[in-house]
Amino acid sequence: MKRISLLICTMLTTLLASAQYWQQQTDYVIDVFLDDKAQTLKGNVYIEYTNNSPDELPFIWFHLWQNAYKNDRTAFARQLLRDKDGKARLKGIKDKGSIEDLAFTVEGKTARMEPDPENIDIVKLVLPEPLKPGKKIILKTWFTVHIPTYASRSGRLGQAYLMCQWYPKPAVYDRKGWHPMPYLDQGEFYSDFGNFTVNISVPSSYVVGATGQLQNEDELAIYKKIGANNLDSARVLMKYTPAGSNGTKILTYKASRVHDFAWFADKDFIIRYDTAQLSAGTTIDVFTYGYENGTPSWKNSVSFIEDAIRHYSNWLGEYPYPVAQAVEGPQNVSSGGMEYPMITLITSPGASNSQMDGVITHEVGHNWFYGILGSNERDHAWMDEGLNSYFQFRYEAEKYRTNSIFGDAIPPEVKAKPLKEFESTIYAVLSGQIPMEEAIETPAADFADKDKYAMVEYIKTAVWMYIIEQVIGRDKVDAAFKEYYNDWKFKHPYPEDLKEEFRKQSPSNIDGLWQLLDKKGKFE
Ligand SMILES: [Zn+2]
Repeated sequence: MKRISLLICTMLTTLLASAQYWQQQTDYVIDVFLDDKAQTLKGNVYIEYTNNSPDELPFIWFHLWQNAYKNDRTAFARQLLRDKDGKARLKGIKDKGSIEDLAFTVEGKTARMEPDPENIDIVKLVLPEPLKPGKKIILKTWFTVHIPTYASRSGRLGQAYLMCQWYPKPAVYDRKGWHPMPYLDQGEFYSDFGNFTVNISVPSSYVVGATGQLQNEDELAIYKKIGANNLDSARVLMKYTPAGSNGTKILTYKASRVHDFAWFADKDFIIRYDTAQLSAGTTIDVFTYGYENGTPSWKNSVSFIEDAIRHYSNWLGEYPYPVAQAVEGPQNVSSGGMEYPMITLITSPGASNSQMDGVITHEVGHNWFYGILGSNERDHAWMDEGLNSYFQFRYEAEKYRTNSIFGDAIPPEVKAKPLKEFESTIYAVLSGQIPMEEAIETPAADFADKDKYAMVEYIKTAVWMYIIEQVIGRDKVDAAFKEYYNDWKFKHPYPEDLKEEFRKQSPSNIDGLWQLLDKKGKFE
């Protein structure tokens, strides 16, 4: 085939692909009540599910991820048992978790759940009538979550409530089919976009941080007043004191164009608050929630969020949400951090200033690589973790002349080099010294352990991005990412979609560079 007709073919395919793109819409209203005596969440969820696919759907796969903590036979438990510290972590779950009392209705009619034969945290909701293309339905159910002892992303430690993966949630149906997946520790998520209204009822003594914008004006004003005071570390720390000490309060949060909703509650949270001006002129609220005796570098958490948002907005596209927040995890948890839309959990006790900045930047950066660019993390972990780590390393190099992996091991003569040479050295050392046996394009659950998963998905991918920089130039890499953001924000991009953006910048050599995703071992 001649070159010119190939070009036309490619253009046609691209046109057709973009014309045919669709994704499902899942809009939620959730009422949830925290009982901190019984250690339960009770609530109801109301989902408006819109079928934008060209297919008739006889059922919808649902995730019930709190059931992952129910016994030692779930996919999560079996994966944990394989890890060297896994048995201890599993034993540490004193209170088992689960989600019970489900009773789905679809458009008011009772609907049947078919259990997945393999996983108790996945069910098939059989629709009373198939859902036609272009139509929407209302799905409703009660639920009770028995809150587990915190061991993996979600649960309770003392009076700290970390409420993640806590409500019944439809799996993604996309152009490649259904994506039901059991909860795993090593291996993340994939969810459809939508709008959330969540009414959280808690004893009034709790401070809550959640995905979205708090709608209760009185409560918000108190958080801002306390938070602004605490931003200045020279001032006496102000603590939250509830208006009525024995009652409960209902806090309402709204979030648009997100694919998850997490919330965190503690009576001892120290609130910090500032506003940040974005380059387009919009102002966003920045909150952090930490502890009086937490990690000292946390006092700079608000400015770390602001700087991360400035950098990622410049590199990729402007932060699109009205609020950005981070929560300091309990001091006995040290898993690094975990991202959710507009809010992130930071579990890095004892982190130095630059380490804290690095981990907060990484987690805030996930608002782009995961939150806005909603890829399938379970199958293509490099698309969120790896691309995000690449930008995190650039941030750290520029600001601190350090790197999360090498840190203090970087010799002074390397630190003294100009930025470009400094970065080259870091990536050269990373590619030479880090074991990177598996191919980048390996599903998260297929790695033998968490260390191997992290080495390859985070670091090998960052090194691969740097190789692309060397071949096509950083300007083109940055241009490709800006286009990627523009074309795929609030959508579900796959690896081939990112490749197309790079091909537009550098048509001649992108196939060879993309083949490196399947390369085992080190890049030569
Ligand atoms: Zn990450």
